[in-house]
Amino acid sequence: MFVEDAVKKGAVLINNAKVQSVIRQNGKAVGVRYRKNGRTLNADAPLVILSAGGIGTPQILRESGISRAGYDFFYDPLFVVKGVVKDNLGGDEIPMAAGVHMEDEGYLMTDMAMPRALNSLSALQSLKLNNLFTHPSTLQIMIKIKDELGGSLTDKGGVRKGLTHADKRKFAWGLSKARAVLKNAGAKDIHKGWYMAAHPGGTAKIDDVVDRNLMTEIDNLYVCDCSVVPEAWGLPPTFTLLCLAKRLARHLGEK
Ligand SMILES: Cc1cc2nc3c(=O)[nH]c(=O)nc-3n(C[C@H](O)[C@H](O)[C@H](O)COP(=O)(O)OP(=O)(O)OC[C@H]3O[C@@H](n4cnc5c(N)ncnc54)[C@H](O)[C@@H]3O)c2cc1C
Repeated sequence: MFVEDAVKKGAVLINNAKVQSVIRQNGKAVGVRYRKNGRTLNADAPLVILSAGGIGTPQILRESGISRAGYDFFYDPLFVVKGVVKDNLGGDEIPMAAGVHMEDEGYLMTDMAMPRALNSLSALQSLKLNNLFTHPSTLQIMIKIKDELGGSLTDKGGVRKGLTHADKRKFAWGLSKARAVLKNAGAKDIHKGWYMAAHPGGTAKIDDVVDRNLMTEIDNLYVCDCSVVPEAWGLPPTFTLLCLAKRLARHLGEK
């Protein structure tokens, strides 16, 4: 919706293009270099705002000479705890209809109705072959923790980050809570699925790689995505990112 508005107001949208680096002239960002259909092209712009996400943005920043991007980040790791009940629940509930944030213990839990195919894949990953076809009778609770900052990205965006002792403790608390809920709901065969992570961020932090107006040390080069979050997170980031983008738009408009 926001992109369509921008295009209506004259922005040029170039799809299926992968930005490689920022072009600089006299210390100022004046555009980006990108790959499209096997060709390397330039896009000129009076202002550059990188929004390639917690993993994409630091790669571009490094390619553009800001080498300290991509360290000490979070990714909000999670797993899903499952149990099988006698009833056939249908298997098509809306996921995350309810949730609770255990702020002091550092995790959040929600109901998590995965699609059938994903449920079978997860059963395969956890070697729970007896759960390959139990989808309509499976109750699932997601445990997502606020992981400590750490790790590093490779220049190609490979994620190198393990779980700390404190992270594992949060998972253990969440697992035991989810087990208790599922047990009280009459579930059997309670087990946890594979580890995943869905909120990479903190790779170009405010007060480090960008200032409080989201500008980098390169004049006219801004970042606006989950990279700029300055500390461990542990919550869904989308509303915060939309608010940051609106704030940046206002700041640039005034400037
Ligand atoms: C399965 C799943 C469920 C989620 N559920 C929720 C939820 O319920 N609530 C919530 O708030 N958040 C949720 N999230 C997290 C949320 O989607 C992300 O945190 C958020 O989208 C991050 O926004 P961003 O702008 O930082 O990056 P992104 O939304 O990832 O945007 C970055 C964009 O840049 C593009 N890109 C990357 N590199 C380049 C490059 N070199 N050149 C050009 N383009 C590039 C990417 O393709 C992408 O389109 C979920 C994430 C996943 C994976």
